[in-house]
Amino acid sequence: MADLISKIGVIGVGHLGQHHVKHLSNNNVFSFSGIFDVDTDRANKIAVEYNCNAHDSLNDLLNNCDAVSIVTPTLTHAKIAEQCIMAGKHVFIEKPITKTVAEADRLLNLAAENNVLIQVGHIERLNPALIPLKNFELNPKYIEVQRLAPYTVRGTDVPVVLDLMIHDIDIILSLVNSPVKNIRASGVSILSDSVDIANARLRFENGTVASITSSRIARDKVRKIKIFQKDMYVTIDFLLGLTEIYRVLEADQDDPDALETASLEAYGNHKKIVYEKPDINQFDALEMELTNFIQSINGNDKPIVNGQAGRDALDVAVKIHDMILEDIH
Ligand code: NAD
Repeated sequence: MADLISKIGVIGVGHLGQHHVKHLSNNNVFSFSGIFDVDTDRANKIAVEYNCNAHDSLNDLLNNCDAVSIVTPTLTHAKIAEQCIMAGKHVFIEKPITKTVAEADRLLNLAAENNVLIQVGHIERLNPALIPLKNFELNPKYIEVQRLAPYTVRGTDVPVVLDLMIHDIDIILSLVNSPVKNIRASGVSILSDSVDIANARLRFENGTVASITSSRIARDKVRKIKIFQKDMYVTIDFLLGLTEIYRVLEADQDDPDALETASLEAYGNHKKIVYEKPDINQFDALEMELTNFIQSINGNDKPIVNGQAGRDALDVAVKIHDMILEDIH
């Protein structure tokens, strides 16, 4: 078992980083070592708000902690994470792990050499609405995902595929137990200098097809996934925290969780469709994710999204994005 960690800090305390500080500065398991942000005004404001230490330099923070959460803009992840890993610190890196796959591979190698953990903040994997799927044997044939968001400048330092679509790529890779066979993709730039709307179709070696649409030019937020497999259809609304499951059962089979039942003539037999709406236990996914990081460092758990998973999602995202650029030019 790894040594129990006692001190953790946060690097980058902007829009998302402040929430990391909120959770990490308020727990009974380890001590909070404080924060570092190149924007000293912002760092001081957050330090006052959460009654913690704003360090003058990254090195100063690293000298006072065993692990860090990196919540800086994506383009800075590789350099900052490398410095932390070389200092022997476990790192939680917000998604995407890095901008390039070569950078991610370098971090994975360095982490192995330095015997530290990398965890990646693909928070949607912990969305409470996904939890009921654990009760079913999943073998998706077709997956359709939509993730739309109103435009904000934050996040536009990377294309929409690395900003939004990568959440869904990570979820899909976790649901489909097969390598990606081929990718088709197209997209357009509307407001930023990079791709703002993208559509990709992944075909996996086992025949599963996934269609993903992501846009940061939308009036309202939409985050939905539909999963189709033999005799089962699941639809999840991540924003509403709503999971609905339709299953085909034998006509005489009972389902105690069924809310509605309809008869169905299928495959020349009399069957029935049952509709279930599992109760969703709401929890704070960020708190859960950071707790999972600490528990994993202490050897009491495994990272839900480890560095390799973060790297694999990035690899598919980069291939999609490269294909879009090829298509545009
Ligand atoms: P932000 O711009 O609001 O905050 C970034 C902070 O990092 C700023 O305070 C900035 O001063 C600081 N910073 C910049 N360079 C730094 C450096 N070299 N050292 C220390 N601090 C530095 O950005 P944000 O929206 O909080 O996003 C941060 C990261 O979180 C990005 O990688 C983004 O993709 C990711 N993110 C993930 C999710 C999610 O759903 N998991 C959601 C939003 C953002």
